[in-house]
Amino acid sequence: MRAFTYERATDPIAAVRAVAGRPGAKFIAGGTNLLDLMKIEVETPTHLVDVQDLGFDKIEATRDGGLRIGALVTNTTLAADERIRRDYAVLSRAILAGASGQLRNKASTAGNLLQRTRCPYFYDINMPCNKRQPGSGCAAIGGYSRQLGIIGVSDKCIATFPGDMAVAMRVLDAVIETVDATGGTRSIPIADFHRLSGDHPEQDTALKAGELITAVTLPRPLGGKHFYEKVRDRASYAYALVSVAAVIQPDGTGRVAFGGVAPKPWRVEAAEALLPQGAAAVTEKAFTGATPTRDNAFKLPLATRALAAVIAQAKA
Ligand code: SF4
Repeated sequence: MRAFTYERATDPIAAVRAVAGRPGAKFIAGGTNLLDLMKIEVETPTHLVDVQDLGFDKIEATRDGGLRIGALVTNTTLAADERIRRDYAVLSRAILAGASGQLRNKASTAGNLLQRTRCPYFYDINMPCNKRQPGSGCAAIGGYSRQLGIIGVSDKCIATFPGDMAVAMRVLDAVIETVDATGGTRSIPIADFHRLSGDHPEQDTALKAGELITAVTLPRPLGGKHFYEKVRDRASYAYALVSVAAVIQPDGTGRVAFGGVAPKPWRVEAAEALLPQGAAAVTEKAFTGATPTRDNAFKLPLATRALAAVIAQAKA
């Protein structure tokens, strides 16, 4: 691990100024991803600004019947919240499908959204990786790609976003609130938050340098039955090969997003309109233009089967 300096911020604007004004500075909260990456020198910040004391740790009702989740609410607290379990069960289930109890106790809502890919070559600083070192190439293309993306990828990077929580938030149309060094705030729909690989896979999200997530807002509840179906190589503490977050209404309509397949939670609204026609109709539309590798072509039929399982449960 490389040497770095550290400060504990007590004011949001001072925190964003400390990061925006200093190249190499980063925010840290739970640190469950960043510290791992620092130990193997994938991330090498020169300065860390700890935001854990900024008070963004509450879950509050909004005036339009939704919930506002502070950026520092831990995954454990969020999954266990009575309102989340009752009205946004897809979110609670997705969070509990991720990581381990110990990690969820430390991991924050904002940090979960910002976790980096688990592409094995991203973690190996001896291998070319455009996401870690822009312009160096992509060892996964033509390499081992079983876990990697099948859609929304590019000839620069085929990595996936590895999280579960964000897939459920995509179904719920969550909005991410931020503050920047000028004190300006933004509300970013989660659909626009994570970026496709494109020509700049090093940019995971729409955040600007120094911009800090303060909260995530959920619109009013959708009703219906909520599901998070995660298919992985072992029963716990593993990333999704494919996951399905869904809210299904009594008439068979609903919303669906897929995880483990793209650089962002993958939701195609025109595809979910086909839910009453069955899983195959939805996935055929949702994955139009998919470019799987030989290693991960199995994800296409797996996505159909995972969604079929959800639809069957919804009818039961
Ligand atoms: Fe790096 Fe992306 Fe290629 Fe993986 S898929 S090696 S993260 S550029």
